[in-house]
Amino acid sequence: MRAKKLLTLFLYAAACALVVAGAFFLGARRAHDDLMEQGHRQLQLMAPDLQSLLERFETLPFVLGQQRELANALAHADDPDTVARMNATLQAIQRQAQVGALYLMDRDGLTIAASNWDQPLGFVGKNFSYRPYFSEALAGRAGRFYGIGTNTGEAGYFIAQPVYRNGSAGGPVDGVIAVKITLDEFERTWASSEDPILLADRHGVIFRTNRPAWRYHSLHPLSAATRAELARTQQYMGQALAPVGEPAGPYVTRAVGRLGWQLMLFPGRGRELRAGAQWALAAALLLACAGVSGWALHQRRRRLQERTESRAALQRAAHDLERRILDRTEELSQTNRHLEQKYAKLQEAERLLRSTRDEFVQAGKLAMLGQMAAGMTHELNQPLAAIRAFADNGRTFLARGMVEQAAGNLGHIGDAAARMGAIIAQLKGFARKDEAIASVDLARSVQASAFLLESDFRRHGAALSIDTGAAPLHVTGNAVRIEQVLINLLRNALDAVGDAPRKQVDVTMAREDGWAVVRIRDTGPGISAEVAAHLFEPFFTTKPSGQGLGLGLAISSSIVQAMNGRLAAHNHDGGGAQFELRLPLPSNEESTP
Ligand code: ADP
Repeated sequence: MRAKKLLTLFLYAAACALVVAGAFFLGARRAHDDLMEQGHRQLQLMAPDLQSLLERFETLPFVLGQQRELANALAHADDPDTVARMNATLQAIQRQAQVGALYLMDRDGLTIAASNWDQPLGFVGKNFSYRPYFSEALAGRAGRFYGIGTNTGEAGYFIAQPVYRNGSAGGPVDGVIAVKITLDEFERTWASSEDPILLADRHGVIFRTNRPAWRYHSLHPLSAATRAELARTQQYMGQALAPVGEPAGPYVTRAVGRLGWQLMLFPGRGRELRAGAQWALAAALLLACAGVSGWALHQRRRRLQERTESRAALQRAAHDLERRILDRTEELSQTNRHLEQKYAKLQEAERLLRSTRDEFVQAGKLAMLGQMAAGMTHELNQPLAAIRAFADNGRTFLARGMVEQAAGNLGHIGDAAARMGAIIAQLKGFARKDEAIASVDLARSVQASAFLLESDFRRHGAALSIDTGAAPLHVTGNAVRIEQVLINLLRNALDAVGDAPRKQVDVTMAREDGWAVVRIRDTGPGISAEVAAHLFEPFFTTKPSGQGLGLGLAISSSIVQAMNGRLAAHNHDGGGAQFELRLPLPSNEESTP
């Protein structure tokens, strides 16, 4: 994947490079053609100018050569006046015609007179016989030449014509008149041109150019013969004339003048390259634009794809979630169904348990009744036997007239009957079920219970103190039942202190967190751990037979529980046992102070 991407990138880069290179060559090529065209047009304008410059002065030496005055000067070259006059004339003409120089030579090439006679580098006295234009003119033909002035070092175009004796053309030639034309002005017009322009002679030697480095260099290596000829004529004053170093490149050329010159123009390589570079740059920019657009498009497509993918993923996740929720819901409803079933079963079990418990309670009561019947038979037998004995004795006492003793026996009989009544009364608790419920003043119940046992306490020499507290405590319940519980607790306390050195029972009452609390404390031996474990079981007793049935606490506990109260026992820190009866205060009672 990555390799493929790289390959694509590489191919794209290669294609781009190819296109840019193509654009470069195309641009350069087009520019080249344009430039060549332009060069042609430029040369078309330049060449005639040069031509006319060269031609303009063709007639000047020709006309002068036929002047008698010049022939005369040559004839009287040794006459200073004649020469001076000649100098002045040549100078005047030179100034008028605006040529470089105008000078007259004798047949030996010696300069007789010159327009520049008064200048330090004047030609007068100089010999130019070595110049080809001199020999040409001496031979009766027009001599034309371009070269560096051996005297002045200034280059120029020389036109020479023969000076005929007596000024008659076709006659004997006495000397040569030459005009020097400088091409400096002409060359100066090239300076502004960016492209190289040059003027080369027929050998290919560059003698005029706007490229200073090219001047007096050859377009191509010169032959030995050419070099020899150039040395002889001193055309270029011994310049090296080495070939131009840099490649000249494409050019346009036009022949100019009568010496086989070539006017050459090298349409700028730089411009060509610039044009190519511009095209290449444009292509590169276009490609870059295309690349960026392509990339942006690609990115956009990728983003869209990513978005679609993420949307699909989201949908999948949502689907998944939905399915999981459905599964979970199904699981939960199944669990719920299970729970409901279990609950139903539990309810059933509870109902069963309740009925079973009721049955057990009933059965327990029956069993207890049996036990009680046995206990009661035993309990009641004793007083019954006593009553019989007291009655028999009483009859005997009455028969003997012992009324007092008989009355004592009757009292004993009453006591025994009372005891039997008490035993029977205890059993009532099991028989009764529905009782009248009312608001019960707990203090009054305590007082009533204490009153019933007052004589017993007194008989045993035990002290009973009751502290009913500051405020009255009212509970909801059955007064008889509450008193039954209190009597039981008080009687047990009295029993407990029976053998104690100090026989004291204290009853205190208090209101504690919504409870009415009655505490009965004795100075007895307290409750051993063994006894404590079975304290509230029916028929559990430590008392000797005939004194306890072991039903008191069991009945009391069930009564208290029926009233939503609690019955508890523990040993007091100061010795003895303390029983605690708690009954709930009604909610309205709770708030009263
Ligand atoms: P009974 O009084 O007929 O024995 P109870 O149910 O009233 O039956 O008492 C059960 C037993 O609890 C008693 O035999 C006695 O051992 C013990 N008991 C009850 N009250 C006290 C107390 N105040 N101090 C010590 N033991 C007690």
